[in-house]
Amino acid sequence: MFTLIELPYKSLAPVISDQTLAFHHGKHLQTYVDNLNKLIAGTEFEGMGLEGIVRKAPAGGVFNNAGQILNHNLYFTQFMTPSVILSEAKNLPTGNLAKQIAKQWGSIDSFKAEFEAKGTGLFGSGWVWLQANAEGELSIGQYANADNPVAHGLKPLLTFDVWEHAYYLDYQNRRAAHLAALWQIVNWEIIENRYND
Ligand code: MN
Repeated sequence: MFTLIELPYKSLAPVISDQTLAFHHGKHLQTYVDNLNKLIAGTEFEGMGLEGIVRKAPAGGVFNNAGQILNHNLYFTQFMTPSVILSEAKNLPTGNLAKQIAKQWGSIDSFKAEFEAKGTGLFGSGWVWLQANAEGELSIGQYANADNPVAHGLKPLLTFDVWEHAYYLDYQNRRAAHLAALWQIVNWEIIENRYND
């Protein structure tokens, strides 16, 4: 049985409104959890972890719902309340991750520009990810619908949800503005831990 994760904060406003957060977490993610529990009951997937299901399930309902839970769990747990940070300019990665980003992109700003462009340019619904291979090399991946780096043998580090349900109440059609605002609430310590893990 999968259950809805608890959020490690009370609010992400004004970057993400409380209304969007409540619908996104309490309705959209809850629905994926309920759907997956129904779909896997009595099947070979019952008792497996999300990553295992995503690696093994064929295209279809089990993959889609497990993928969406995995994606949202990583998405919701990578943020922090904006009041605890000073500004986007001071909210930056550190350590090994910062070094690797600088090595591959030259600067954090170049990295952010490519990440935002790939999120904005993803046609339809999906996710943009910062991901790492077994050698620790980074790349930015665009994935449609519920797909994710785990299904492709890569380590998921940071993700922005570009499904309209993630931003439409707050930003309407302005996906690029929404993605640009998210840097203010990224908890880089979490991303760094995922990279070093
Ligand atoms: Mn979503």
